[in-house]
Amino acid sequence: MTATHHKLIIIGTGPAGYTAAIYASRASLSPLVFEGSQPGGQLTITTEVENFPGFREGVLGPALMEEMREQALRFGAQIRTETITQAKLDVRPFRLETDQGAYTCDALIIATGASAKWLGIGKDEVLSRSGGGVSACATCDGFFFRGKEIAVVGGGDTALEEATYLTKFASKVNLIHRRDQLRASKAMQERALANPKMAFHWHKVVADILTATVETPMGDTVEKIRALQLKDTRDGSLSELPVDGLFVAIGHQPNTHLFKGQLAMDEAGYLHVQKGSTRTEVPGVFAAGDVQDHTYRQAITAAGSGCKAAIDAERYLEHVMVEGLARVLRHDPVELRGTCRGVRARVHRRRARDRVARLSGNRHAIGG
Ligand code: NDP
Repeated sequence: MTATHHKLIIIGTGPAGYTAAIYASRASLSPLVFEGSQPGGQLTITTEVENFPGFREGVLGPALMEEMREQALRFGAQIRTETITQAKLDVRPFRLETDQGAYTCDALIIATGASAKWLGIGKDEVLSRSGGGVSACATCDGFFFRGKEIAVVGGGDTALEEATYLTKFASKVNLIHRRDQLRASKAMQERALANPKMAFHWHKVVADILTATVETPMGDTVEKIRALQLKDTRDGSLSELPVDGLFVAIGHQPNTHLFKGQLAMDEAGYLHVQKGSTRTEVPGVFAAGDVQDHTYRQAITAAGSGCKAAIDAERYLEHVMVEGLARVLRHDPVELRGTCRGVRARVHRRRARDRVARLSGNRHAIGG
């Protein structure tokens, strides 16, 4: 399959990918951007975003991503809705294959993000998209549950951190965990266990999310969570827990399966980048956003690292060009000699032709 070549390819269109695209296209790198199966990334499954600077009244997640997309297009980024099925990073240029074609590039920015893990009961994911009171991000959505009773599922650092954060808003936070031992760090556990606004439900999983149809101020109707059906993991008994919101905090899955065995990553699959930069250990490959950050995971931090990746890629491409020129210069004597020989030969041939022409002209003149 013949491949089309681009100086820079960006994979992913969350805040990191779009920001990288905006910076790279303004730097005349004409990036090609692949938006994959979830254009706009995780923000397209949230509703209101109130903590992205510049929007004092807040902004809807999908609307924010649409603005970023239009901004990238305005500066000349090309965006393709194709899913990368294969990446080869051990060849130069790097080679990518999609379900529709093949592409090569001199530099690559990976901004494929991470996906929140859902409970696997279907309804949680649906309600998170429809504004039904389910979320996977306390920092994004905690504010909407001021004075309400909510639940958090999970027993790791994320769950306890999110639950503790949510006690600032909620009247009560119920932590639901499938065992009676938390996976979270001791310090995090101690803080959560001592928090008077928290209640712990051990040996419990969410079997179902019970909803009610409510009317919105706009006159529409929406399905909102009203309670959780909990199942005891020891005896299978069912119970009901009335809540207004559910936060699922059972981990994230970085979208890095394409790069397994090619790029260094931690146990959970997050890409390693060199400290203070977006460089991976393969020169010319950069990583930005949640795919390399399990700590902050915010739209604004992802956008910031997208900016860094574009600048790193631009510097890398300049360096490669300068190196290329230097290589030519280092070989200059040989190349110059060859070139000079060629020029001398051409001059010699032209002079010889002229002499022949002159002589034959003279002969004609003499003969004539
Ligand atoms: P973890 O994998 O550490 O924890 C996931 C939790 O969810 C576990 O308690 C697990 O239960 C539970 N779980 C998993 N699947 C299900 C399911 N289907 N139903 C119910 N419960 C489930 O993920 P985290 O996101 O918490 O943390 C990821 C990494 O990030 C960790 O290394 C963590 O230390 C780090 N981190 C650090 C922070 C910090 O230092 N401030 C903050 C947040 C994360 P079980 O225990 O039974 O397996």
